[in-house]
Amino acid sequence: MQHIPGAWQRTARGAGLLAADGSSVPTIFAEMSALAATTGALNLGQGFPDEDGPEAVLEAARRAIADGVNQYAPGRGFPDLLAAVAEHQRRFYGIELDPAREVLVTVGATEALSATLLALIDGPDDEVVVFEPYYDSYAACVALSGATLVPVPLRWPDFQPDLEQLASAVSDRTRVILVNDPHNPTGTVFTREVLDEVVRLAHRHDAIIVTDEVYEHLVFDGHHVPLSTLPGAAERTVSISSAGKTFSLTGWKTGWVTGPAELVSAVLAVKQFLTYVGGSPFQPAIAVGLRLPDAFFASVASEMAAKAALLGTGLRAAGFEVSAPGGSYFTVVDAAPLGATDADTFCRELPARAGVVGIPLTAFVSPAHRDRYATLVRFAACKRVEVLAEAAERLAGMRRD
Ligand code: PMP
Ligand code: GLN
Repeated sequence: MQHIPGAWQRTARGAGLLAADGSSVPTIFAEMSALAATTGALNLGQGFPDEDGPEAVLEAARRAIADGVNQYAPGRGFPDLLAAVAEHQRRFYGIELDPAREVLVTVGATEALSATLLALIDGPDDEVVVFEPYYDSYAACVALSGATLVPVPLRWPDFQPDLEQLASAVSDRTRVILVNDPHNPTGTVFTREVLDEVVRLAHRHDAIIVTDEVYEHLVFDGHHVPLSTLPGAAERTVSISSAGKTFSLTGWKTGWVTGPAELVSAVLAVKQFLTYVGGSPFQPAIAVGLRLPDAFFASVASEMAAKAALLGTGLRAAGFEVSAPGGSYFTVVDAAPLGATDADTFCRELPARAGVVGIPLTAFVSPAHRDRYATLVRFAACKRVEVLAEAAERLAGMRRD
């Protein structure tokens, strides 16, 4: 038995989750939220809203607890939530799903992603193609699964990929093409051309597409187009979303997976040993949320678009170069005009200089590619208007030394 701790350490170290001294490496979000808490800076770092979600949804969870929905849910999720997810997919996207076979409830999108990658990846010969910068859990889960991450760069300021670079990244070794749209950390909404190319390449190389659509209701112009609705995509796509962003309930950690029954079953097979199930009383409440009228979903997008515009104006006035997000919580700036040469250092000094916290884009890229994103910083717009206005004022008055 003695060798077991060593083996575990090698795995965690190999996946980059353990520092050389054996301590666990906190995520950039945890680190930056702690910095905001200790300095009293405004937290435009970690993407969580500072207001609660819709009252009807909150009340439904309270009611569920009072009504005794307090024991394990079924492994796939309560049938009513499975049905509500299927109804949502039909209402917004015209996607038809069998709720009993093609929907699975998870502990947030995070568990959906880890269970999906662990279920689909066979071993070290498999590759997972992602757009870089990428959400932090992607690289960690790919590393834990033993596969190789193949990043395709997104470049300032529009953060769309070069289609030739995308094509050359995908090969017969590609097991999964993982697409987050709208995209964290850049706020990009991918063009139809990019989505079409992903489907073409997946067919050509017999890869599976995994989508992360947690910002599906935060598209500022027009509507979200799920990749699975493109011709030829549904049969090889696992789609992931979550209640966290749509309903401003990030702490409820309730997400879902949809797709072909055999792929969803493979994800369930892994998911049941990660958590078995998540928090039961949240499930009926999220079903209420998913059935809210269209006007609610339209207001989610328009309110976030207004906040992103306010944040963008403030950041420009403070002297940053600002990219134009198409959706999500996030706006990326270039801090070079304010003297930044390294985003990580800039963000660690920002609370003292301006009383604001942001996240360096270098936290979302492979170490070898940091130079491409060296002076870029992500700010979150999912805060109250007065907080965004105060942050803009503080940044505008920032010391330039
Ligand atoms: N994917 C992306 C792109 C995210 O930004 C987040 C953060 N919410 C997640 C997944 C995780 O979602 P959840 O909190 O539902 O686990
Ligand atoms: N999704 C959130 C963000 O990008 C963070 C979630 C987390 O802390 N894991 O800011």
